[in-house]
Amino acid sequence: MAKSRYLIALGSNVPHHRHGSPRKVIAAALAALGQSDLKVEKVSRTITSRPIGPSRRAYANAAAVVRSKLDPPELLAALQAIERQFGRKRRGQPWRARVLDLDIVLWNGGTWVSPGLIVPHSAFRERLFVLGPASKIAGNWRDPVTGLSLRQLDARLRRS
Ligand code: ATP
Ligand code: CA
Ligand code: CA
Repeated sequence: MAKSRYLIALGSNVPHHRHGSPRKVIAAALAALGQSDLKVEKVSRTITSRPIGPSRRAYANAAAVVRSKLDPPELLAALQAIERQFGRKRRGQPWRARVLDLDIVLWNGGTWVSPGLIVPHSAFRERLFVLGPASKIAGNWRDPVTGLSLRQLDARLRRS
């Protein structure tokens, strides 16, 4: 039981009819994670980024470290079930407005590549909204691809 550790990124930029604002969606999603087939070990603060451009939707983002016996594709399926539970429809292209987005950022088993799943997440090194929260709860965790810790990746991106 609980043989793997994962870093998960949570995001929301659409209110939920029952849970409310994106920040509240993140809080509810963290509670849902805790009720599923995994154990939530650490949770970051939830950050809010102001809407950019014509969009009026603020984003809420957070990160969590979880332990689970699930392998990466099984965990992705569990995360997608929670996304659906929050009313997310899987149609259209990525990056559209969504109530809840749950991504696998890192796995303590290293790298995983299979159809529909790449771990580490292919874009997390360029995203402050992932590295900010993640580096605060798992700053020493090393990205197996670059060999850099989350703290180093965060500092590198902030300098650039
Ligand atoms: P981005 O991946 O750039 O953050 P997104 O999260 O908005 O974009 P989605 O529409 O949520 O994109 O997901 C598109 C597909 O990405 C999913 O169907 C899933 O199969 C795939 N995917 C690949 N690697 C991962 C990963 N590490 N975590 C979550 N989904 C992944
Ligand atoms: Ca995403
Ligand atoms: Ca996603």
